Amino acid sequence: MGNEWSRRGVLAGAAAVGATIILAGAAEAVESGPLTIRRGDPRYDGLVRANNFRFVGNPDEVRLAGSTGQVVRAVSDAVRAGRRVAVRSGGHCFENFTADPAARTLIDLSRLDAVGFDPVRRAFFVEPGATLGQVYKTLGRGWGVTIPAGGCPEVGAGGHIAGGGYGPLSRRYGAVVDHLEAVEVVVADRAGVRAVVASREQNEDLWWAHTGGGGGNFGVVTRYWLRTPGADGTDPARLLPPQPRAMLTCLAVWTWDDQALTRVLRNFGTWMERNSAPGSPNAGLYPILDLKPRGTGSFELTVQADADLPGVDRLVTDLVTGLGVEPAYTYRYEAPWSHVTTWPGLGQPGDVATRRYKIKAAYLHRSFSPAQVATIHRHLREETTVQGGIQLIGYGGQVGAVAPEATAIAQRGAIMKAVYSSLWLEPSDDAANLAWVREFYRDVYSSTGGVPVDDGSYINYPDVDLADPVWNTSGVPWQTLYYQGNYPRLRQVKARWDPRNVFTHALGI
Ligand SMILES: Cc1cc2nc3c(=O)[nH]c(=O)nc-3n(C[C@H](O)[C@H](O)[C@H](O)COP(=O)(O)OP(=O)(O)OC[C@H]3O[C@@H](n4cnc5c(N)ncnc54)[C@H](O)[C@@H]3O)c2cc1C
Repeated sequence: MGNEWSRRGVLAGAAAVGATIILAGAAEAVESGPLTIRRGDPRYDGLVRANNFRFVGNPDEVRLAGSTGQVVRAVSDAVRAGRRVAVRSGGHCFENFTADPAARTLIDLSRLDAVGFDPVRRAFFVEPGATLGQVYKTLGRGWGVTIPAGGCPEVGAGGHIAGGGYGPLSRRYGAVVDHLEAVEVVVADRAGVRAVVASREQNEDLWWAHTGGGGGNFGVVTRYWLRTPGADGTDPARLLPPQPRAMLTCLAVWTWDDQALTRVLRNFGTWMERNSAPGSPNAGLYPILDLKPRGTGSFELTVQADADLPGVDRLVTDLVTGLGVEPAYTYRYEAPWSHVTTWPGLGQPGDVATRRYKIKAAYLHRSFSPAQVATIHRHLREETTVQGGIQLIGYGGQVGAVAPEATAIAQRGAIMKAVYSSLWLEPSDDAANLAWVREFYRDVYSSTGGVPVDDGSYINYPDVDLADPVWNTSGVPWQTLYYQGNYPRLRQVKARWDPRNVFTHALGI
């Protein structure tokens, strides 16, 4: 370590990267470092708090880096001073990966947020601080293209893409990382702190680790490049999926009733099993079944789809009818894609009214078993004041066309994601809310030690309980639950690119 090491890193980084824009960034870092905010600065409190108010960081400094070179400088300074680093882009991590009290330097990438087209790479670039809303807006307005990313416009590209990324168009176009052409990462390897570019052709292992290995593990991503594999030509409008003109959204609401809930839950699973193969005529539909406790009085399904998909109205009607219980209320509306993806709307938990929450998750490769359906029903019918529930989110389709080892997302056969949540406002309600969601989840997976041993989970929905022997009694390590057979390779990548474990967190590789 020491000065020499970090300075060598800056210079090596400039040479390794080679692109004009990035050289300019590196040069800037030598002249001026990132903006540094310390305790006592009125900006500090706002920067050490992220989306989940359960976690408030206490770093000695927040480094607001606005260029690759400034990231190199921030990492070099932290390494030299022996300060533990945390890296944040959009701040939407469910767990305490970036506000951990052990982190002494928080590198905040929110200023590094450009989105555009890079003709040299023939790919769109997205900097980590760009929110998904910014990405959709810029790609859509500029070129009429989009990416199959998440539905929440405030999520940051930085963490979202490294963890895999999926959303309303994924059943049709795959995960976001299926379109990842290259990534620029500031690493702290044996050659020093430096920016390196990784793609299928160059530093392939580091590129692969960023196709679902999860953020905060290998270095600081300073740029992603996106292009659909096999897309040819130089016309940017043909290099990523076209953005839909408009999305059709259908909302179906049922009155909470024992039989209705279990029947809809079972039939939803059957529908997902039958309609989630790659290329399925229904792969254009993105359904989310949202089940809440009985006291709320109702449960609902939303289906989103490209409004111009042939026969879309009929496809949506068949899905709702196939659930076997007449909804009490249905509503359909069409809205421009740009509107759906950039306006947060009302009622999106965690964003419009940021609060405290705990989220646990699992993939599903098939429908829930009858015993699991009975457990879900039992938990939801109990009297509770908790604002929580379970969502079953449509997955599969084109996601399943990719081999489990081709990217770091191992669960390519999954057809749904299950998200168990509770949301609250006051610290005094922490214990009750945490207990509710933890017990719910443990009981659904009671036959496999309280965790989804067969299906695993999604690293962008991290849950530290999977590493806790109190909540995971399966004997299967959390690493296997998240990464399955891809974990050994991720370890190798880690050993090569971050041998000192500069980048880590509670579920670090
Ligand atoms: C309201 C809400 C809605 C969501 N919806 C979806 C959805 O529809 N689809 C979906 O797939 N996911 C969704 N997610 C999950 C989301 O993808 C993850 O939380 C994601 O990791 C957030 O990225 P971030 O940059 O906002 O978060 P951060 O908290 O900044 O980062 C998350 C992790 O990535 C690391 N990281 C961040 N930036 C970098 C970087 N530049 N380089 C290296 N590591 C970095 C952090 O250290 C941390 O470990 C949602 C989350 C929330 C809170």
